[in-house]
Amino acid sequence: MPRYCEVAVPVPLRTTFTYAVPESLDGEPLVGRRVVVPFGKRTMVGVGLGESDAAPEATRVKEIAHLLDSLPALPPKLIELGHWISRYYLASIGEAFRAMLPPEIELRQDRAYQITDSGRSYLRDLAETDERTDEESAEFELLSRFDREDSSISSARLRRQLGTEFLADGLVRRGYLSARETLHRRKARTQKIVSWNPAHEGVLAEALRQGTASAVPNPDRLTGPSAPEVRIREVLTAERGPLPLNLLLEKAHVSRAVIQRLEKAGVLQTWEEPITPGEDPWDTDFTPPANVLNPEQKTALEEIWRWIVTGEFSAALLHGVTGSGKTEVYLGAIEAAVSRGKTAIVLVPEIALTLWVGRLVRARFDDRVAVLHSGLPDIERAREWWRVRRGEASIVVGTRSAVFAPLENLGLIIVDEEQESSYKQEESPRYHGRDTAVYRARLEGAVALLGSATPSLETFHNARAGKYKLLKLTSRVENRPLADVRVVDLREEFRRQHRAAPISETLRAAIALRLEEKTQAMVLINRRGYSWSLLCRGCGAVVQCQNCSIALTYHKSRDRLECHYCGYSIRPPKQCPKCHAEYMYFVGDGAERVDEYLRQQFPHAKVSRLDRDTVRTKRQYQQILGAFAKGDVDILVGTQMVAKGHDFQRVTLVGVAAADLALGRPDFRAAERTFQLLTQVAGRAGRGELSGEVLVETYYPEHYAIQLASQQDYESFYEKEAHFRRMLHYPPFTALASVLVRDRKVENAVRWSRALAACLEPFEKKDVKVLGPAAAPLARLRRDYRFQFVLKSPQRTALGKALSAALDFCAAKEIPANAVIVDVDPASLF
Ligand code: ADP
Ligand code: ZN
Repeated sequence: MPRYCEVAVPVPLRTTFTYAVPESLDGEPLVGRRVVVPFGKRTMVGVGLGESDAAPEATRVKEIAHLLDSLPALPPKLIELGHWISRYYLASIGEAFRAMLPPEIELRQDRAYQITDSGRSYLRDLAETDERTDEESAEFELLSRFDREDSSISSARLRRQLGTEFLADGLVRRGYLSARETLHRRKARTQKIVSWNPAHEGVLAEALRQGTASAVPNPDRLTGPSAPEVRIREVLTAERGPLPLNLLLEKAHVSRAVIQRLEKAGVLQTWEEPITPGEDPWDTDFTPPANVLNPEQKTALEEIWRWIVTGEFSAALLHGVTGSGKTEVYLGAIEAAVSRGKTAIVLVPEIALTLWVGRLVRARFDDRVAVLHSGLPDIERAREWWRVRRGEASIVVGTRSAVFAPLENLGLIIVDEEQESSYKQEESPRYHGRDTAVYRARLEGAVALLGSATPSLETFHNARAGKYKLLKLTSRVENRPLADVRVVDLREEFRRQHRAAPISETLRAAIALRLEEKTQAMVLINRRGYSWSLLCRGCGAVVQCQNCSIALTYHKSRDRLECHYCGYSIRPPKQCPKCHAEYMYFVGDGAERVDEYLRQQFPHAKVSRLDRDTVRTKRQYQQILGAFAKGDVDILVGTQMVAKGHDFQRVTLVGVAAADLALGRPDFRAAERTFQLLTQVAGRAGRGELSGEVLVETYYPEHYAIQLASQQDYESFYEKEAHFRRMLHYPPFTALASVLVRDRKVENAVRWSRALAACLEPFEKKDVKVLGPAAAPLARLRRDYRFQFVLKSPQRTALGKALSAALDFCAAKEIPANAVIVDVDPASLF
């Protein structure tokens, strides 16, 4: 009997596709398996979601090509979760499932080109033409080659021979060549591992016993072991086993040639092994602190133990002020899960934190821990992923997508700094890692533990309403005081100084004091680059991106104006592009400028900067953070990267330059973000035995977000902000979604927006408030014109129906799938 399989294929359509199951796969279960399937002219990797014997209605059904793995990549609970993501966020099924799968490292994409019939007739035409243009001659050459070959030519070969595929691509578009995507299996990358040769050991021992160490089987050597050999042996003994070649070279201070010689002599053995993470000296040279839980931590942990023991779903907020020792509670909770034979996931909001948290967790639970984040090379990530899938790791530490870690028997999901907007994915599927974590915990009967010093309004609202349990840590460990926060009124500063420096005089003096005391300071400036914009004093215009409606940021080190959205960049013009006046003027200081200013002011201090311009790799993170933690750096400047989670013991001053930046954003979360950022960064000061001070620079000292952050008064902030949200119908009191319509051509964007407006209008009667279409706050982005609708409803199901209708409408009216972006529970409306 023929079998059919529903496959989720990663294309932006809200349906699955039916494939026939070839006989070669008889008896193979397909649900959860990664399958390679033909799709249009391409080959893609999808996931089997369901099997049936009933023939589908479509006349021609293609066959599954083959299976990628012997084990289903997705266990049943994750399949359920994938369906939920696709429903709740109105995402394409295939894209929802792709987000859950490991990188496809076993495959390499290639294209094979072949001449078509119309290509042959075009070739004949060209042959008869007397005068060919240069382009036609090139085409003639290429098509003749295809004609002679009479079989396909791979893109790799074309690139080798012509240096480019450009010409071939043009011919494909005109139908003269056909192109087929093919996928190839790729060999796994490996590294050389070195170990002491145990067989050699016997010979050596024998020789030593007989007093003739020179009897070792090395014809070159008549004396005892050489110095490098001794060192290698010491290192290999200290590390209790084989080491990767590179690490051994570094630790034993020997050259490759020495290893080769010793290998030949039979002293060492080597073999190739797949690359594994976890041999990082960052991890191995680390001793975790041995803390005794204080009464608050103990109470919280006892509660968590109880929930885990019952084996039922529960969600809880761990609301603990900065420095209250939440991590210690997390570790205890993991212990609870693991001791019941369950598995655990720890989500952190950014890659840098996987280093800190990963190291702590690994120190306690050693090789049962896997780390997953998008910063890993695909090969490493795939290896870790499969290690988890095979059950070799039972604890996963990772960023957003680690919520899909393929653990079975899940007992606990921790979401650290649950309020962070980085948990929201800004491309399809637009899921929220925290909310997905809670849903997954519900599916698996696990405990979801959301930790924060400044919970999101949504989470605190849920805790108040009793939907989430609430655990509190009200004081810092060892009763250390919270840092003392002072607001620096920049208007007054300016009146006194009559000039604007990148940081206030008050902050500068406070830093000078720290340098004298030999403690450390951090400065947060939440803007990258040197200047926010280049302004013409003649006409007042700022230099804008060519593709986006946004000012270009000046980066001095590269001497370029850059767009942080699309990457467009130019040399800063000497004249205004609009009025040609020659009074161009840089405004607004970014992290690069503050960094430079501090180096000028304190030439003897060691200043480091942490932002996306100075840090691109894990190694760089480790270097900068490691140096700061060790005390080798006096002042650390950075963007919000420095604000989160880090635990530096000798920081006694934190300065926040331009603290009110976020307040200027046209977004309903502006106050919340400002409050969170200020509280978080204030929490970096005074964590050790030395007390801390925080200076917050602002032009709006009276704003409630700034006032209440400086008092570190979360509950009052919540009350005030919740009041506004309720009045203005925003989350957590209303379900919110944004629908964005975009196109290169403004006419299309306008036309489609109008059509959608008509489609959405009837839902106004069904409890859905539809605002828009209006030009989006970023009216142009990457060359697209953008219009926005904001949909609100007190009822989530009503909202979902309206959105679903809108997407069906687009599909029916042939509005391209990628022209309309639906974002449920958006992180911001900006
Ligand atoms: P946060 O709540 O801000 O996440 P952390 O978990 O980073 O706080 O803890 C802050 C510091 O307190 C860390 O250096 C940690 O080792 C230390 N710490 C945690 N618990 C205790 C304890 N019971 N006694 C002493 N120090 C502790
Ligand atoms: Zn741009």
